[in-house]
Amino acid sequence: MNKIAFIGAGNMNRAIIIGMINNGFAPENIIVSNPSPEKRLALAQEFGIRQTADNLEAARFAPTIVLGVKPHLITDVCRDIKQNLDISDKCFISIAAGCTMAQIQAALGNGQAVIRTMPNTPSQLGLGVTGIYPSREVTPAQRTVADEMMKAVGIVMWLDQEKQIDDIIAVSGSAPAYFFLFMEIMEQHAQTLGFSAQDSRKLVQQTALGAAQMVCQNDDSIAQLRENVTSKGGTTQAALNQFYQGGLSQLVTKAMDAALQRSREMA
Ligand code: NAD
Repeated sequence: MNKIAFIGAGNMNRAIIIGMINNGFAPENIIVSNPSPEKRLALAQEFGIRQTADNLEAARFAPTIVLGVKPHLITDVCRDIKQNLDISDKCFISIAAGCTMAQIQAALGNGQAVIRTMPNTPSQLGLGVTGIYPSREVTPAQRTVADEMMKAVGIVMWLDQEKQIDDIIAVSGSAPAYFFLFMEIMEQHAQTLGFSAQDSRKLVQQTALGAAQMVCQNDDSIAQLRENVTSKGGTTQAALNQFYQGGLSQLVTKAMDAALQRSREMA
Protein backbone atom coordinates (compact mmCIF):
# COMPACT_ATOMS: atom_id res chain seq x y z
CA MET A 1 0.00 0.00 0.00
CA ASN A 2 1.39 3.41 -0.96
CA LYS A 3 2.02 5.95 1.72
CA ILE A 4 0.93 9.50 0.97
CA ALA A 5 1.90 12.77 2.67
CA PHE A 6 -0.38 15.79 2.48
CA ILE A 7 1.24 19.18 3.01
CA GLY A 8 -1.57 21.45 4.24
CA ALA A 9 -4.76 20.42 6.01
CA GLY A 10 -7.05 22.86 4.16
CA ASN A 11 -10.27 22.34 2.25
CA MET A 12 -8.97 20.56 -0.82
CA ASN A 13 -6.51 18.23 0.87
CA ARG A 14 -9.20 17.41 3.43
CA ALA A 15 -11.63 16.52 0.62
CA ILE A 16 -9.07 14.23 -1.01
CA ILE A 17 -8.15 12.56 2.30
CA ILE A 18 -11.81 11.90 3.13
CA GLY A 19 -12.44 10.52 -0.35
CA MET A 20 -9.44 8.21 -0.09
CA ILE A 21 -10.49 6.88 3.30
CA ASN A 22 -14.06 6.33 2.10
CA ASN A 23 -12.55 4.35 -0.76
CA GLY A 24 -10.62 2.03 1.54
CA PHE A 25 -7.20 3.69 1.77
CA ALA A 26 -5.60 2.73 5.09
CA PRO A 27 -5.51 5.78 7.40
CA GLU A 28 -2.16 4.75 8.90
CA ASN A 29 -0.61 5.22 5.44
CA ILE A 30 -1.70 8.86 5.26
CA ILE A 31 0.04 11.74 7.03
CA VAL A 32 -0.94 15.42 7.00
CA SER A 33 1.20 18.37 8.02
CA ASN A 34 0.01 21.85 8.87
CA PRO A 35 1.69 24.50 11.03
CA SER A 36 -1.47 25.31 13.01
CA PRO A 37 -2.95 22.38 14.92
CA GLU A 38 -6.75 22.66 14.63
CA LYS A 39 -7.35 21.28 11.13
CA ARG A 40 -4.71 18.55 11.19
CA LEU A 41 -5.79 17.37 14.65
CA ALA A 42 -9.43 17.32 13.55
CA LEU A 43 -8.51 15.14 10.55
CA ALA A 44 -6.41 12.83 12.69
CA GLN A 45 -9.16 12.44 15.29
CA GLU A 46 -11.94 11.93 12.77
CA PHE A 47 -10.17 9.55 10.43
CA GLY A 48 -7.22 8.05 12.31
CA ILE A 49 -4.56 9.44 9.96
CA ARG A 50 -1.13 10.56 11.13
CA GLN A 51 -0.46 14.25 11.65
CA THR A 52 2.47 16.57 12.27
CA ALA A 53 3.37 20.25 12.33
CA ASP A 54 6.55 19.47 10.43
CA ASN A 55 6.44 19.28 6.62
CA LEU A 56 9.77 17.46 6.57
CA GLU A 57 8.47 14.69 8.84
CA ALA A 58 5.50 14.26 6.52
CA ALA A 59 7.65 14.30 3.38
CA ARG A 60 10.09 11.79 4.90
CA PHE A 61 7.21 9.39 5.61
CA ALA A 62 5.94 8.93 2.05
CA PRO A 63 7.11 8.58 -1.54
CA THR A 64 4.14 10.65 -2.74
CA ILE A 65 3.77 14.21 -1.46
CA VAL A 66 0.64 16.24 -2.13
CA LEU A 67 1.24 20.01 -2.12
CA GLY A 68 -2.04 21.45 -0.82
CA VAL A 69 -0.99 24.93 0.31
CA LYS A 70 -1.97 28.19 -1.36
CA PRO A 71 -0.16 28.81 -4.66
CA HIS A 72 2.13 31.57 -3.33
CA LEU A 73 3.53 29.17 -0.71
CA ILE A 74 4.24 26.22 -2.98
CA THR A 75 7.80 27.11 -4.02
CA ASP A 76 8.91 27.93 -0.44
CA VAL A 77 7.50 24.64 0.82
CA CYS A 78 9.24 22.78 -2.03
CA ARG A 79 12.60 24.49 -1.45
CA ASP A 80 12.50 23.62 2.24
CA ILE A 81 11.86 19.94 1.49
CA LYS A 82 14.49 19.85 -1.26
CA GLN A 83 17.16 21.43 0.97
CA ASN A 84 16.60 18.99 3.83
CA LEU A 85 15.71 15.61 2.30
CA ASP A 86 16.78 13.21 -0.41
CA ILE A 87 13.80 13.51 -2.74
CA SER A 88 15.19 11.67 -5.75
CA ASP A 89 12.59 8.85 -5.56
CA LYS A 90 9.66 11.01 -4.54
CA CYS A 91 6.76 12.23 -6.61
CA PHE A 92 5.18 15.60 -5.85
CA ILE A 93 1.53 16.20 -6.67
CA SER A 94 0.48 19.84 -6.80
CA ILE A 95 -3.18 20.80 -6.58
CA ALA A 96 -2.41 24.53 -6.88
CA ALA A 97 -3.81 26.84 -9.50
CA GLY A 98 -1.36 29.29 -11.08
CA CYS A 99 1.88 27.58 -10.11
CA THR A 100 3.55 26.09 -13.18
CA MET A 101 5.45 22.86 -13.60
CA ALA A 102 8.58 24.93 -14.38
CA GLN A 103 8.22 26.90 -11.12
CA ILE A 104 7.69 23.75 -9.05
CA GLN A 105 10.57 21.91 -10.72
CA ALA A 106 12.83 24.95 -10.31
CA ALA A 107 12.17 24.80 -6.56
CA LEU A 108 12.57 21.02 -6.31
CA GLY A 109 15.39 20.61 -8.81
CA ASN A 110 15.08 19.95 -12.50
CA GLY A 111 14.25 16.37 -13.32
CA GLN A 112 12.05 15.89 -10.25
CA ALA A 113 8.86 13.88 -10.82
CA VAL A 114 5.96 16.33 -10.48
CA ILE A 115 2.27 15.96 -11.27
CA ARG A 116 0.03 18.99 -11.61
CA THR A 117 -3.63 18.38 -10.85
CA MET A 118 -6.69 20.60 -10.89
CA PRO A 119 -9.55 19.27 -8.77
CA ASN A 120 -12.79 21.11 -7.96
CA THR A 121 -14.83 21.45 -4.77
CA PRO A 122 -17.46 18.74 -5.40
CA SER A 123 -14.50 16.43 -4.72
CA GLN A 124 -15.57 16.67 -1.08
CA LEU A 125 -18.68 14.64 -2.06
CA GLY A 126 -16.79 12.24 -4.32
CA LEU A 127 -18.31 14.10 -7.29
CA GLY A 128 -15.27 16.09 -8.36
CA VAL A 129 -13.45 16.24 -11.64
CA THR A 130 -9.67 16.45 -11.69
CA GLY A 131 -7.41 17.31 -14.61
CA ILE A 132 -3.95 15.72 -14.31
CA TYR A 133 -0.74 16.60 -16.13
CA PRO A 134 2.50 14.73 -15.32
CA SER A 135 6.08 15.82 -15.95
CA ARG A 136 7.97 13.40 -18.20
CA GLU A 137 9.93 12.06 -15.22
CA VAL A 138 6.80 10.56 -13.65
CA THR A 139 6.90 6.74 -13.69
CA PRO A 140 3.92 4.51 -14.52
CA ALA A 141 3.72 3.48 -10.83
CA GLN A 142 3.61 7.14 -9.75
CA ARG A 143 0.89 7.80 -12.35
CA THR A 144 -1.15 4.95 -10.89
CA VAL A 145 -0.89 6.40 -7.37
CA ALA A 146 -2.12 9.82 -8.58
CA ASP A 147 -4.88 8.24 -10.65
CA GLU A 148 -6.19 6.12 -7.75
CA MET A 149 -5.94 9.04 -5.34
CA MET A 150 -7.93 11.46 -7.48
CA LYS A 151 -10.44 8.80 -8.58
CA ALA A 152 -11.31 8.48 -4.89
CA VAL A 153 -12.92 11.93 -5.10
CA GLY A 154 -14.49 11.87 -8.56
CA ILE A 155 -13.54 11.42 -12.18
CA VAL A 156 -10.08 11.97 -13.60
CA MET A 157 -8.96 13.41 -16.92
CA TRP A 158 -5.30 12.99 -17.96
CA LEU A 159 -4.18 16.00 -20.01
CA ASP A 160 -1.71 16.10 -22.91
CA GLN A 161 -0.44 19.62 -22.33
CA GLU A 162 0.14 21.75 -19.26
CA LYS A 163 -1.87 24.62 -20.76
CA GLN A 164 -4.96 22.45 -20.36
CA ILE A 165 -4.65 22.86 -16.57
CA ASP A 166 -5.55 26.54 -17.09
CA ASP A 167 -8.29 25.54 -19.53
CA ILE A 168 -9.79 23.09 -17.07
CA ILE A 169 -9.90 25.79 -14.38
CA ALA A 170 -12.26 27.71 -16.69
CA VAL A 171 -14.36 24.65 -17.51
CA SER A 172 -14.57 22.79 -14.19
CA GLY A 173 -12.22 24.19 -11.49
CA SER A 174 -14.03 27.52 -11.07
CA ALA A 175 -17.31 26.28 -12.51
CA PRO A 176 -19.21 25.06 -9.44
CA ALA A 177 -19.59 28.77 -8.61
CA TYR A 178 -21.12 29.49 -12.05
CA PHE A 179 -23.91 27.04 -11.27
CA PHE A 180 -24.23 28.37 -7.69
CA LEU A 181 -24.74 31.88 -9.09
CA PHE A 182 -27.41 30.73 -11.53
CA MET A 183 -29.21 28.84 -8.76
CA GLU A 184 -28.84 31.80 -6.39
CA ILE A 185 -30.54 34.15 -8.89
CA MET A 186 -33.37 31.66 -9.46
CA GLU A 187 -33.78 31.12 -5.72
CA GLN A 188 -34.05 34.89 -5.11
CA HIS A 189 -36.61 35.37 -7.85
CA ALA A 190 -38.67 32.42 -6.63
CA GLN A 191 -38.98 34.31 -3.35
CA THR A 192 -40.17 37.47 -5.09
CA LEU A 193 -42.82 35.27 -6.72
CA GLY A 194 -44.02 34.39 -3.20
CA PHE A 195 -42.34 31.09 -2.32
CA SER A 196 -40.78 30.83 1.12
CA ALA A 197 -36.98 30.87 1.33
CA GLN A 198 -37.03 27.17 2.21
CA ASP A 199 -39.34 26.19 -0.66
CA SER A 200 -37.41 28.36 -3.13
CA ARG A 201 -34.20 26.57 -2.30
CA LYS A 202 -35.88 23.16 -2.45
CA LEU A 203 -37.39 23.89 -5.87
CA VAL A 204 -34.12 25.17 -7.31
CA GLN A 205 -31.79 22.55 -5.86
CA GLN A 206 -33.97 19.61 -6.86
CA THR A 207 -34.35 21.02 -10.39
CA ALA A 208 -30.58 21.47 -10.76
CA LEU A 209 -29.96 17.96 -9.43
CA GLY A 210 -32.58 16.46 -11.75
CA ALA A 211 -31.24 18.31 -14.79
CA ALA A 212 -27.65 17.23 -14.01
CA GLN A 213 -28.77 13.61 -13.54
CA MET A 214 -30.63 13.69 -16.87
CA VAL A 215 -27.43 14.82 -18.58
CA CYS A 216 -25.40 12.12 -16.78
CA GLN A 217 -27.84 9.29 -17.50
CA ASN A 218 -28.68 10.12 -21.10
CA ASP A 219 -26.72 9.54 -24.28
CA ASP A 220 -28.46 12.42 -26.05
CA SER A 221 -26.50 15.64 -26.47
CA ILE A 222 -27.22 18.40 -23.96
CA ALA A 223 -28.66 20.48 -26.82
CA GLN A 224 -31.04 17.61 -27.63
CA LEU A 225 -32.16 17.37 -24.00
CA ARG A 226 -32.92 21.09 -24.07
CA GLU A 227 -34.86 20.76 -27.31
CA ASN A 228 -36.82 17.82 -25.90
CA VAL A 229 -38.24 20.00 -23.12
CA THR A 230 -38.86 23.10 -25.26
CA SER A 231 -42.23 23.09 -27.00
CA LYS A 232 -42.66 25.61 -29.76
CA GLY A 233 -44.46 28.67 -28.40
CA GLY A 234 -44.46 27.26 -24.86
CA THR A 235 -43.31 28.55 -21.48
CA THR A 236 -39.78 27.12 -21.67
CA GLN A 237 -39.23 28.66 -25.07
CA ALA A 238 -40.41 32.02 -23.73
CA ALA A 239 -37.80 31.79 -20.97
CA LEU A 240 -34.99 30.59 -23.25
CA ASN A 241 -35.71 33.41 -25.71
CA GLN A 242 -34.88 35.86 -22.94
CA PHE A 243 -31.54 34.11 -22.36
CA TYR A 244 -30.72 34.25 -26.10
CA GLN A 245 -31.77 37.88 -26.48
CA GLY A 246 -29.83 38.86 -23.34
CA GLY A 247 -26.61 37.35 -24.73
CA LEU A 248 -26.24 34.51 -22.22
CA SER A 249 -24.05 32.51 -24.58
CA GLN A 250 -21.53 35.38 -25.02
CA LEU A 251 -21.64 36.09 -21.29
CA VAL A 252 -20.83 32.51 -20.31
CA THR A 253 -18.01 32.40 -22.88
CA LYS A 254 -16.61 35.68 -21.56
CA ALA A 255 -16.78 34.45 -17.97
CA MET A 256 -14.92 31.23 -18.80
CA ASP A 257 -12.28 33.20 -20.74
CA ALA A 258 -11.85 35.54 -17.76
CA ALA A 259 -11.18 32.57 -15.45
CA LEU A 260 -8.65 31.24 -17.97
CA GLN A 261 -6.95 34.63 -18.26
CA ARG A 262 -6.76 35.02 -14.49
CA SER A 263 -5.27 31.57 -14.12
CA ARG A 264 -2.53 32.48 -16.65
CA GLU A 265 -1.84 35.78 -14.87
CA MET A 266 -1.42 34.01 -11.53
CA ALA A 267 1.44 31.86 -12.89
P1 NAD B 1 -6.91 26.32 2.45
O1 NAD B 1 -6.52 27.69 2.88
O2 NAD B 1 -8.19 25.74 2.92
O3 NAD B 1 -5.74 25.30 2.86
C1 NAD B 1 -4.37 25.60 2.90
C2 NAD B 1 -3.80 25.02 4.19
O4 NAD B 1 -2.38 25.13 4.14
C3 NAD B 1 -4.25 25.75 5.45
O5 NAD B 1 -4.77 24.82 6.38
C4 NAD B 1 -2.94 26.39 5.99
O6 NAD B 1 -2.91 26.45 7.41
C5 NAD B 1 -1.92 25.42 5.46
N1 NAD B 1 -0.56 25.97 5.38
C6 NAD B 1 -0.16 27.26 5.27
N2 NAD B 1 1.18 27.33 5.22
C7 NAD B 1 1.64 26.05 5.28
C8 NAD B 1 2.93 25.49 5.27
N3 NAD B 1 4.03 26.23 5.15
N4 NAD B 1 3.04 24.14 5.37
C9 NAD B 1 1.94 23.35 5.47
N5 NAD B 1 0.68 23.85 5.49
C10 NAD B 1 0.53 25.17 5.39
O7 NAD B 1 -6.85 26.30 0.86
P2 NAD B 1 -7.53 25.30 -0.19
O8 NAD B 1 -8.79 25.88 -0.70
O9 NAD B 1 -7.53 23.90 0.36
O10 NAD B 1 -6.48 25.41 -1.37
C11 NAD B 1 -5.25 24.71 -1.30
C12 NAD B 1 -4.73 24.55 -2.70
O11 NAD B 1 -5.70 23.86 -3.46
C13 NAD B 1 -4.46 25.89 -3.39
O12 NAD B 1 -3.20 25.87 -4.00
C14 NAD B 1 -5.57 26.00 -4.42
O13 NAD B 1 -5.13 26.64 -5.61
C15 NAD B 1 -5.87 24.52 -4.69
N6 NAD B 1 -7.23 24.28 -5.17
C16 NAD B 1 -8.30 24.64 -4.40
C17 NAD B 1 -9.58 24.44 -4.90
C18 NAD B 1 -10.77 24.83 -4.10
O14 NAD B 1 -11.84 24.90 -4.70
N7 NAD B 1 -10.66 25.05 -2.78
C19 NAD B 1 -9.78 23.84 -6.15
C20 NAD B 1 -8.65 23.45 -6.88
C21 NAD B 1 -7.38 23.67 -6.38
